Amino acid sequence: MPEPVDSIPRPRVVADGPLDATIDDLLRGVVEILPWEVALKGSSDPIDGIYTYGHPQVDGAMMDRLPGLKVISNFGVGVDHINLADAGQRGISVGNTPGVLEGATADLGFGLLLAASRRVVEGARYAQSPEFTVYDPGYMLGVEVHGSTLGIIGMGNIGREVAKRARGFEMTVLYHNRTRRPNVETELGVQYVTLDQLFFQADFVMLTVPLTEETRGMIDAVALAKMKRSAILVNIARGSVVRNDDLVEALSSGEIAAAALDVTDPEPLPRDHPLLGLPNVLITPHIGSATVQTRRRMAELSVANLLAGLRGAPLPREVT
Ligand code: NAP
Repeated sequence: MPEPVDSIPRPRVVADGPLDATIDDLLRGVVEILPWEVALKGSSDPIDGIYTYGHPQVDGAMMDRLPGLKVISNFGVGVDHINLADAGQRGISVGNTPGVLEGATADLGFGLLLAASRRVVEGARYAQSPEFTVYDPGYMLGVEVHGSTLGIIGMGNIGREVAKRARGFEMTVLYHNRTRRPNVETELGVQYVTLDQLFFQADFVMLTVPLTEETRGMIDAVALAKMKRSAILVNIARGSVVRNDDLVEALSSGEIAAAALDVTDPEPLPRDHPLLGLPNVLITPHIGSATVQTRRRMAELSVANLLAGLRGAPLPREVT
């Protein structure tokens, strides 16, 4: 008589939830999902995998509390919340989801750029308010996007997609990376510049770098002072790439014109944070990759990474 499926031991995976229904469906019956408290407190029984959904911190101490850990699978590309060196030292594979979310994230970045330059959110609030009683051609003048100069910091997967969209708006695109990308320059007609040149010349500064020790606080008072007074900063990377206090100061004093942020540090900001009170700030709640189609692909890839790691096979997308 065959053994009932429920009695077959399944790999044990800790996850921070609640998980999206798609992920739940993909994992149900395949692995045993244990609550995040197990990762925080530790386990005497083997734990085969960690699945990170909402950017919980994972470090070596946590890995050591989970005996037998083979794989950490992250729902998303950014892995700054996972200590990669600690995982490497312990032979634990880490997977993420490049290749499936850059289009959606670039769309949102470009949407923020357009919204901030053309005062879309401010205009919508006004148009829906009792104050809007008469059309006035003199109000809510924005700045032009087409024909302007975009500076992309981080010409990687997302940066490239942003640059493609900028071409349709006839923008001059400058970029900065640690490594120059001649193939992207040829393909997309973008121009490599130093960070300072980018700050001095760009009408829009778009952040698409990973958060690392090098990029943490990269946009500080010194960087903001180099930007044009008319510049608009768009951050779709990670909140900690920008120094909040310096940004508040630059926006309040008119050192730059506006900021559009999909990401902040912390997330969410405390409800009384000065950034929330500024008229020239637009904030979205970290929704860069949040489309139905992209989230489905992220779920599938992150689950494929997890299952491969549990089998001891190479991950489809491993962070190296
Ligand atoms: P990627 O393909 O790895 O590209 C990152 C780029 O940043 C690379 O071209 C890299 O080039 C450059 N870079 C790294 N360190 C740098 C430094 N110190 N100075 C200048 N450039 C630097 O990553 P991606 O897929 O485009 O994603 C980028 C980040 O976006 C992720 O790490 C994540 O944090 C964030 N993200 C946010 C959302 C959202 O919902 N808002 C969604 C997805 C991703 P070099 O190595 O040559 O410097």
